[in-house]
Amino acid sequence: MSILSDLSERVPGRTFGPGSTEYDDGRTVFYGPGEPEAVIRPSTVDELAAAVRAAVDANVPISVRSGGHGSLPATDGVVIDLAEFNAIEVGDDGLVTVGAGAHWGDVAAALAPHGLGITSGDTLDVGVGGLALGGGIGWLVRTHGLTVDLMREIELVTATGEVLTVNAESHPDLFWALRGGGGNFGIATRFILQAAPVDGIVGGHLQFDQSDVGAVLRTWRDITVASPDELNSTLLVMPQLMAEMPAGPQLAVALRGTEEELRRVLDPLLSLPSVTEVKLGPVAYGELLEAAPPGRPPFRFVGGNGFAPDLSDEFLAACERALGTAAPTMLMLRALGGAFSRVAADATPIAFRDAQALFVVNTLLPADATDADAAAIRPALDEALGFTSGPYANFTQEFGDDVTATIYPPSTLERLRRVKSEVDPGDVFRPAHHIAPTR
Ligand SMILES: Cc1cc2nc3c(=O)[nH]c(=O)nc-3n(C[C@H](O)[C@H](O)[C@H](O)COP(=O)(O)OP(=O)(O)OC[C@H]3O[C@@H](n4cnc5c(N)ncnc54)[C@H](O)[C@@H]3O)c2cc1C
Repeated sequence: MSILSDLSERVPGRTFGPGSTEYDDGRTVFYGPGEPEAVIRPSTVDELAAAVRAAVDANVPISVRSGGHGSLPATDGVVIDLAEFNAIEVGDDGLVTVGAGAHWGDVAAALAPHGLGITSGDTLDVGVGGLALGGGIGWLVRTHGLTVDLMREIELVTATGEVLTVNAESHPDLFWALRGGGGNFGIATRFILQAAPVDGIVGGHLQFDQSDVGAVLRTWRDITVASPDELNSTLLVMPQLMAEMPAGPQLAVALRGTEEELRRVLDPLLSLPSVTEVKLGPVAYGELLEAAPPGRPPFRFVGGNGFAPDLSDEFLAACERALGTAAPTMLMLRALGGAFSRVAADATPIAFRDAQALFVVNTLLPADATDADAAAIRPALDEALGFTSGPYANFTQEFGDDVTATIYPPSTLERLRRVKSEVDPGDVFRPAHHIAPTR
């Protein structure tokens, strides 16, 4: 019997093969379409548990899809697609129950009438499941911390098809592991998260020309390090890619406060001679989120990311040198510190809590660039990355045990592996950033 017919018998009406819309939806992710043998799209927790048991009994690899913005296309096995788990319910005291298959834009829209928001990312289309299990660096990260810091409870279907309600009291170690350890422990169906008031936000964009990128970097650093938790910002330095897209530094910024306060905080940047455009004003939280590009741009990306504990002059000078490589290079600094840094390093698997920013650098080589081309520009990028502590899993597109070992410090990884051994000793869930059980 084929895998498709076997799974169809075990999860009738919810198992889909080639030629169906559900199969095409489930196999397609941001990075392109995959070729799994089947897609199961459960609509209840019982069906989801049956899907897991069926895949385990058939010894078929499982890929889990929530919003499809993190996973690589599945090359075999079964995709379990959580698209139907997309309910959003606003409860008392700002506690919100969010289905793993919802998108963060839907969450923002559902919370807006209540004057609430959950800091979650910068993109409307990104899914709840992958982002929430991996960390969640969003707008308001300095004000409220990561998405995982706002998590109060998770419903999880384990490798044996058991349904667990996981919180700090019921399963403390698993609750810890799920707040940054990714999809290694089971399939999350829903999360209870603490939302926060998001009324009275002002924000917008500043654009600078390329005449003095160093001054922009240093001035942004001075403001960020000294600013109140209410200020959130991302500094992006873009190369000249297309005539219609301006090159140079651009700042996206938001503050819960007044426009006058925002302009006062930003004054040193607004006073730089390289400012070319200023657009600031009241903005709703949902308007801060933007649509994702239709797919990964057709470049060979060479670079990486890392949590930067010290935005020193030396680090910023290395950033400038990285921008000076022969090929077009983009750089992003997302302000951290604030509430993000007040969470203890061992409170969640996201351990680099002393970070003042998340640093991302990528050189965009032609898609057919060779390994030698990539190696030639690596030293300048690696010099800047060398100032960081370790990468953020959800932004890391390199995989393997050696990469996992840079995402988590040794004691964190050891603890994650112990939890993995308890909840998934057979290693059924093997996401891209895989955490192996202890042997
Ligand atoms: C355009 C774009 C913008 C982004 N912006 C941000 C940002 O601002 N901040 C940020 O923090 N991240 C951001 N990310 C990264 C994002 O957090 C990850 O890519 C995340 O994995 C996406 O979640 P998803 O549900 O859409 O992904 P999916 O592809 O559905 O899932 C990714 C992986 O997560 C695991 N997984 C997903 N759902 C579940 C579940 N319910 N149970 C168990 N495991 C599960 C699986 O291993 C799966 O392979 C961005 C990504 C993109 C492509």
